[in-house]
Amino acid sequence: MILVLGGGVAGLAAARALGERGAEFLVLEREREPGGWCRSIRSGGYLFDMSGHFLHLSDPAMRAMALGLQGVSWDAVERDARVFLRGRLTPYPFQANLHGHSAALVRRCLADFAAERIREATGSASAPRNFAEWLVRRFGRTMCREFFFPYNRKMWRTPLGDMGYSWTSWSVPVPAFEDILAGARGETRNGMGYNPSFLYPRSGGMGALVAALAAPLRDRLCTRTEIVRIDTERRVAWSAGGERFPYDAMVATAPLPALAAACRPAPRAVRSAGGKLRWVKVLSLNFGIRDPETTFGHWAYVPERAYPFFRIGFLSNVSPGSAPGGCASVFTEKSFPAGAAIDVRSEIRSSLDHLVRMGVLRKGRAPEVVEPIVLDPAYVVFDHAREGAAKLLLEHLREKGIFAAGRYGAWDYNGMEGSMADGIRAAGEALRAAGGGAP
Ligand SMILES: Cc1cc2nc3c(=O)[nH]c(=O)nc-3n(C[C@H](O)[C@H](O)[C@H](O)COP(=O)(O)OP(=O)(O)OC[C@H]3O[C@@H](n4cnc5c(N)ncnc54)[C@H](O)[C@@H]3O)c2cc1C
Repeated sequence: MILVLGGGVAGLAAARALGERGAEFLVLEREREPGGWCRSIRSGGYLFDMSGHFLHLSDPAMRAMALGLQGVSWDAVERDARVFLRGRLTPYPFQANLHGHSAALVRRCLADFAAERIREATGSASAPRNFAEWLVRRFGRTMCREFFFPYNRKMWRTPLGDMGYSWTSWSVPVPAFEDILAGARGETRNGMGYNPSFLYPRSGGMGALVAALAAPLRDRLCTRTEIVRIDTERRVAWSAGGERFPYDAMVATAPLPALAAACRPAPRAVRSAGGKLRWVKVLSLNFGIRDPETTFGHWAYVPERAYPFFRIGFLSNVSPGSAPGGCASVFTEKSFPAGAAIDVRSEIRSSLDHLVRMGVLRKGRAPEVVEPIVLDPAYVVFDHAREGAAKLLLEHLREKGIFAAGRYGAWDYNGMEGSMADGIRAAGEALRAAGGGAP
């Protein structure tokens, strides 16, 4: 028996892979429905995702898997992402689209970027020791001051000098000098970055992906089943309701710190490693707005501290069916340190004030629908302790036949594609460990 702990997209993809190989398995999911952060909700005629969820695929095998799923039709969408800075909207990414900012700012950005390239070419730049230094080396001080520092501080809620930069390769595009110059002249560099186009379900929101993944699992998916304790010697997991689940191997997609805390017995080094992992949670506020004053693109990055959220998105510009005619499905995202209390009412008031200030919500109007969602955990913080602590925990679990996977099981920065691929990889390992042969 292979247990799959968690029915998010990583666990569901793992379960499908196990089913296709004829393995005996069970998916145990805490909530009353599967999908994790990829669920969608309907409210008052609007459709919302758990904040913006857009599927960008780079691996041909995962593309074939997603496109081959029964029950979901995809629209291919050209990304329209923007940067909202000092009241101006420019195309994303900021660094490759400087045109539209003041001439003085563009000159300073270019001069500082050039200075870093010269330092690099003459070998006079030392290797960056942290994320803050990496940003300065890549982009120069002015771009950091205007965009990268304030945006990343808002998102990570962590001093950038305390973070590493191993995770940046796919998510922070570093344009060539020619591209930066072209962008400063006004030649739009839209295609840059990790998702110049993406897939989105034609109907049902991103939850349609979850439904398609879960459909073949039927009674092998147990919802409302939270695993709270795992005896790694006897290979038995217990639910909060006291139910006992013996296993030969496990694919675990629950967040690594909680997973580590549930496992017994655990050596001291393992217990202490679990306590070193840091993350932020995100308050995603979803608004159904009738007759908005304006909307812009699919989403926009909002670096300024004067605005509470770091990103705002317009799902109805991606998927018109997510809002009634003449209305908009809008989301804002704000990060908080893991342990912080969130005063949701005051956050809603503040977000609405700033939607008016941005010209999205008409003054004096209220949204028709408000759906607050807290995603906890949302982003793994890549501080200097993360790599060693996560490695130790993942190796310990693997020795016990537990293969952690997905964004939070593997404690990484995976998007949906990466999380599903990781679930499939872990399913293969669990199958081998359980004596089920090569996948
Ligand atoms: C704000 C935000 C925006 C994002 N936008 C995008 C995007 O646009 N595109 C993209 O590709 N990715 C995006 N992502 C990433 C995406 O959400 C993840 O890659 C994906 O949801 C990870 O899936 P998962 O199955 O690994 O984890 P989860 O979705 O967290 O699923 C884990 C499941 O395990 C269950 N569980 C946890 N503990 C237990 C337990 N003890 N017992 C039983 N069940 C348990 C949970 O209830 C959950 O259902 C975004 C993430 C965030 C936070």
